[in-house]
Amino acid sequence: MPPITAHDPEVAALIARETARQNAALTLVASENYASHAVLAAAGSALTNKYADGYPGARDYPGCEVCDDIETLARERLCRLFGAGHANVQPYSGSVANLAVYCALLNPGDRILSMKVEDGGHHTHGSPEHLSGRLYRAARYGVDPATGLLDYAEIAAAVRREQPALLICGGSFYPRTIDFGAFAEIADEAGTLCLADIAHLAGLIAGGQHPSPAGAVPLITTTTHKTLRGPRGGAILCDAEYAEEIDAAVYPCLQGGPLMHIIAAKAVCCAEAMTPAFKDYSRRVVANAKVLATALAAEGFSPFTGGTDTHLLVLDLAGAGIRGCDAEGALSRAGIAADRCPVPGRGEGYDTAGGIRLGTPAATTRGMGEEEMKALASLIAGILRNPHHPGRIGEARREVAQLARTFPVSP
Ligand SMILES: *Cc1c(COP(=O)(O)O)cnc(C)c1O
Repeated sequence: MPPITAHDPEVAALIARETARQNAALTLVASENYASHAVLAAAGSALTNKYADGYPGARDYPGCEVCDDIETLARERLCRLFGAGHANVQPYSGSVANLAVYCALLNPGDRILSMKVEDGGHHTHGSPEHLSGRLYRAARYGVDPATGLLDYAEIAAAVRREQPALLICGGSFYPRTIDFGAFAEIADEAGTLCLADIAHLAGLIAGGQHPSPAGAVPLITTTTHKTLRGPRGGAILCDAEYAEEIDAAVYPCLQGGPLMHIIAAKAVCCAEAMTPAFKDYSRRVVANAKVLATALAAEGFSPFTGGTDTHLLVLDLAGAGIRGCDAEGALSRAGIAADRCPVPGRGEGYDTAGGIRLGTPAATTRGMGEEEMKALASLIAGILRNPHHPGRIGEARREVAQLARTFPVSP
């Protein structure tokens, strides 16, 4: 921070304010996390100065020897971490990674079959407001409204009916284990390509807490900043037979110069994710989510599907007499960040969402464990029961602040 303070006190003060905000608040937003000092340092390094359009050994600019080594290292580490044949580490985000797969392997007008957004799918999987929904015809599968679970026989039937060119699995708030092998089998039988979007699950897969799609599903996209705890960005893993088309889709079809500083940070986060400490971290993320779900259920709230196998749960607020947006607001006033979320299978939109999504990756990075999850569950229950009671919210806010002080970000 010192150089920013000297050169631009205005921005330095804003960064200091945001850093303080992150420290004082607790985020249970399931997609958020805190990157390590090493990841932040790589992302803030001199590599930001370098243009390196192209790939290792074939760049459009001079002076790319070091960039070649960094990108090769990042690719090798990502392949090793997930057991994949080829990696592209250049996507600026998870969204661009998904577009690159479509660009590489589909023709405009082709059909995509993906999970409904209101059941947990992502808008980059063919929503009308996203380019993927304009270029391709998206059909959707949902969860079984009775159980909240993916129904693989239904998905197989949808594939036979829709004959998609691409079947997509993975989403943003499915709390249970995804059977990637079942998706791969369904796609194989229909002669359809299959993409696993593991943006949310990457850290759990790397840490051995969720089965990996690698080896079964030929195309995998991810973000690097969610459970994987790296820099903000995306990546693609694929079988070697798709490597050339995927690389050409990322650059030059969709992107210009790669963000070499972010690629270096991706390499750092992969090394971190290979350590026993990370394995233990991802185990604690899931254990914490289970404890949070159980404790909230004991308080009379309903975790959708009864609980979780992952880093997140969706609290169904239908019986609690509070809407998702009011729950989000009340929690936020108490210093807890969590986003409203449609309850899958009910066709709710974001404005009518009747649920709230709670994730443990960031809290676990701060060192919180099962005791803190129980304390949080009791705080959350109190807030949701009295969302408009300033005294109660104020009391909860002081307890949240104390918890945040006890577990600072990057101690
Ligand atoms: C977060 C997310 C993305 C998009 O990632 P960005 O880096 O924000 O573009 C894509 N797919 C899924 C399933 C996600 O949850």
